Amino acid sequence: MGTSSKFSEYIDDGKNKFDITCQYCKCLILLPRVGLYVVVKHMLPLMTQKNEEVTTDNGENLSDFWRIDDMYTFENIGFTHTVNDIKYLSCADCERGPIGYHILSTKKSYLALARVKNHE
Ligand SMILES: [Zn+2]
Repeated sequence: MGTSSKFSEYIDDGKNKFDITCQYCKCLILLPRVGLYVVVKHMLPLMTQKNEEVTTDNGENLSDFWRIDDMYTFENIGFTHTVNDIKYLSCADCERGPIGYHILSTKKSYLALARVKNHE
């Protein structure tokens, strides 16, 4: 593997080792070995509560993501809003997010490790 990521204990053979769940409501987002660990730099707006307006003025630069090539391999996922080519992902149950983003043109999704629960 050769990853020195602080998330390495959650990664097995480049994929997520455990169920990925919401940090807040335990909603199941991904089954093990569905997300591919990738390092990409992307700014995500700060997490908001349900119905709270998301602002793109305040963001957090993140670099550790699970890449999901097929939307239909998510167990549960929701969307907050779309900005240009990006749809932001949220928890399907409690609607907190963004927990990641989906690129409309490539159809690939990226789930931020820092914004989900990566272990049991
Ligand atoms: Zn949730």
